[in-house]
Amino acid sequence: MTAPEVHDEAPGATRAAWVRDLLTRHESIELEFVQHRDSYTVHVIVPDDPDVEPEVVTPQDDAAKADVIMGLLRSNLPTVCGYVSTVWMSPTIHSDNKVWEFEDHLLCARCQKALGEHANRAFEHPVPRTSAEDES
Ligand SMILES: [Zn+2]
Repeated sequence: MTAPEVHDEAPGATRAAWVRDLLTRHESIELEFVQHRDSYTVHVIVPDDPDVEPEVVTPQDDAAKADVIMGLLRSNLPTVCGYVSTVWMSPTIHSDNKVWEFEDHLLCARCQKALGEHANRAFEHPVPRTSAEDES
């Protein structure tokens, strides 16, 4: 078994290939999305590999403990196109946000391209109801 790749530092093509391979091996993976705070572009979060156990970190000193606490307040989420999104767990901080429903046209074109044959899975998400649909 090889060590998991650190995909947020991998070159784009390598990361995209890794994600496509993961999605091929695991049909059940649900993609997650994060919306950029200013552009509203929706990026696809690099999924966790279910075959890799999450690393359990035991902080050894105060600085390491502070890092763990910061990690609870703020997540750095690598996305499929290479953009690393920062999400703060505080409504008062203007940051990117994880989203569950969005309009298709907001989906990042580079994330779609990187997903290749799995791009359709990025469109399996709820779309917000429009006022036109409410009338029917
Ligand atoms: Zn993207």
